[in-house]
Amino acid sequence: MSNIRVRIAPSPTGPLHIGTARTALFNYLFARHLGGKFIIRIEDTDLLRSDPKFEKNILEGLEWLGIEADESPIVGGPDAPYRQTERIESYAHYLKKLLAEGKVFYCFHTEAELEEEKRELLETKHSPIHLCEYRTMDIKEAETLAEINSNYVIRFKTPAGRIIAFNDLIRGELSFQSDLLGDFSVAKKIDVPLYHFAVVVDDEAMDITHVIRGEDHIANTPKHILLIEALGFCIPQYAHLPLVLGTDRSKLSKRHGATSIDEYREQGYLPEALFNFLALLGWNPGDNREILSKEELIREFSIEKIQKAGAVFDFVKLDWMNGEYIRKKTSDELTRIALPFIETLLSGKQFSLDYITKVIALEQPRLKKLSELLEKIDYFFEEPQYDVSLLLWKKMTAENAVAALDVAKKLLEQNKEKPITAMKEIFLQKGKEMGDKGSLLWPLRVALSGKKASPDPFEIMEILGIEKAARRIEYAKKIAVLS
Ligand code: GLU
Repeated sequence: MSNIRVRIAPSPTGPLHIGTARTALFNYLFARHLGGKFIIRIEDTDLLRSDPKFEKNILEGLEWLGIEADESPIVGGPDAPYRQTERIESYAHYLKKLLAEGKVFYCFHTEAELEEEKRELLETKHSPIHLCEYRTMDIKEAETLAEINSNYVIRFKTPAGRIIAFNDLIRGELSFQSDLLGDFSVAKKIDVPLYHFAVVVDDEAMDITHVIRGEDHIANTPKHILLIEALGFCIPQYAHLPLVLGTDRSKLSKRHGATSIDEYREQGYLPEALFNFLALLGWNPGDNREILSKEELIREFSIEKIQKAGAVFDFVKLDWMNGEYIRKKTSDELTRIALPFIETLLSGKQFSLDYITKVIALEQPRLKKLSELLEKIDYFFEEPQYDVSLLLWKKMTAENAVAALDVAKKLLEQNKEKPITAMKEIFLQKGKEMGDKGSLLWPLRVALSGKKASPDPFEIMEILGIEKAARRIEYAKKIAVLS
């Protein structure tokens, strides 16, 4: 077994985001491909913004997508706990160590002072880097001061003149100047660590070998490396994933469409389709295949094939892909997953599962997402409501429609014992005789479905039954006569 260990460390400050899910998926595929472990750790140290309901949402969303964790707050694991708020002692331990070694220090600047300094630096065209005067304060003196003045943060004593270089597995050799980092803060208090500090302590404690995260974290990596060195930890390998962009190539946001996994789930996207789609956001198998199963993705995934350029989230492609996955389902499977989407249509009514399955199967070849079903199949479960004008084919008058519906009704009665294929032939023949088959079939189809677009009338009749079809034709005639 390999010693590869990767993680995602979402902050539970909002529902599971598309970008987080993509990062999780790439970590997962990388781990599964190499026989390593995939860990979920919850970064909930931002007490004001973190909420257990978001943690639940994130964990459930990942599970729904099929991104199973080997270790997490739910499944546990050898490095438990997997929530930062439950690991405070370990951060305090290392903070005290660094304080004693003079590698971090207490800073007593007020917010207002820091703001003022930033303004002055920007005004004089300098980078707003905070090189803190308190870095040289005697530790005993600082500790005494900290006892009476709790308005402090703990900062890292960033070494001057260092070049911090690392080999990013996607972006290659990257280097940063320590002089541009400033004395960044690592904790608000001994027992209130900030992201940069907690993340490196946890990655070490959990033996993380590869940190695969979004490109927006690149600027944090030199800070993490400095902290890791100061703590004497092992530096993991880094891979920064390209950003997920909207179709206009700006960072994906609500402006472009849904950004939370929940919204996709509610719209009836299948987890397998999203799994496949997210895997192609910045990665491809090296050829033009687009439909790849989970097993294929695990087998073929490699960091080398991740692109550097931003990955465009193509909503049209997602719809297409979801449709492909819908078509892979057996009609029983599709019915099972579709039922929650048509609940309102079925409530209080008596329809057999067999009937519902047939109706859903009728739409299966065209369906892009399950939420479309409700509006597409309602007429199988309730009488259609439509405007008389919809019955009229091209230049037809209401009288013409009544006449056509009459013909349809008669043909139906005369041939009701025949199989639907034979019935269809008879109708088509009659339509031809009438000069334009639309003038017979259009009013018939609208009478059955009440819709501008629907499957053909024979497919509908096959499920609806001849009797009900005849009643609907009768009703259509009635409203056309009254119009
Ligand atoms: N909590 C950070 C985030 O959600 C984790 C970043 C990291 O992977 O280091 O972006």
